[in-house]
Amino acid sequence: MRFEIVTIFPGFFTSVFENGILRRALAEGLVTANVHDLRAFTHDRHRTVDDRPFGGGEGMVLKPEPLAEAFASLGIPPKSQRATTLDQKAAPPQVIMLSAQGRPFTQSLARQLAAPADPNARIVLVCGRYEGVDERINQLYCDFELSIGDYVLSGGELAAAVVIDAVSRLIPGVLGNEASGAFESFGVSDSDIDTDVEGVPRSQHGSGGLLDYPHYTRPAEFAGLRVPEPLLNGDHQAIRRWRRQQQLQKTLANRPDLLARAALSKEDRKLLDAVRQETAPPESSPRN
Ligand code: SAM
Repeated sequence: MRFEIVTIFPGFFTSVFENGILRRALAEGLVTANVHDLRAFTHDRHRTVDDRPFGGGEGMVLKPEPLAEAFASLGIPPKSQRATTLDQKAAPPQVIMLSAQGRPFTQSLARQLAAPADPNARIVLVCGRYEGVDERINQLYCDFELSIGDYVLSGGELAAAVVIDAVSRLIPGVLGNEASGAFESFGVSDSDIDTDVEGVPRSQHGSGGLLDYPHYTRPAEFAGLRVPEPLLNGDHQAIRRWRRQQQLQKTLANRPDLLARAALSKEDRKLLDAVRQETAPPESSPRN
């Protein structure tokens, strides 16, 4: 996977790429990331990338010309010309405008973006600043706008880093265990997990779109709190049941909206009913 990032703050990405899983993925060549300084595509003394908005109003807007030149330098023509100018055998580049107005970024979209078998598939991330980017860039070059949440950031760089991290860890070989992503929050269901993959831990369920369960490590007792008993006795069925019940409980408490879309088995529904009963507020006594 190749990420091309277009930004006015290229230095932002130094630490993003120097730590943890991303650092290893880059070092092993599983992921490539090229950061492009938008100011390199300007031609005036001040390296101007922004201008005042037509129609008046707050702030400045990123100008279209430097961005169009940046795309040209990456060999990315406007959308209308891609069918005739790009190699049709290769995965088409995905040009993404980071924007609070975009479609929400989800684990399922991260999975789609990580999916192309072509290791040279490219994702171009356009980082806006100020009031945003001249809309014609979106119209001409961007496949879609992407938002990382319902809040407004000062720039697209943080959002680009989020996308790169979430997508990269789903690329085969990046995480130690191929199946890990399935067992996390928003992961796939049991039926979509390849049980032939070595090391698939059957003390877990695929999350099936639920939130993850709580994790514990040594010591077995800390600050007067003991690790839940089912995790200590090595009974894989009991561990699986406890973890599923916790997933359902946590999802019900923090993200009930996910339950409607989750892949729930008959057993899940029973557990969920039990969780609902346990957590329901006591019925108030009838008034006299
Ligand atoms: N005027 C814009 C609006 O109200 O939607 C906000 C612009 S924001 C200050 C500057 C840049 O930050 C945007 O162009 C975009 O690239 C990025 N940005 C802000 N919030 C974002 C979000 N939730 N997701 C992705 N990118 C975001």
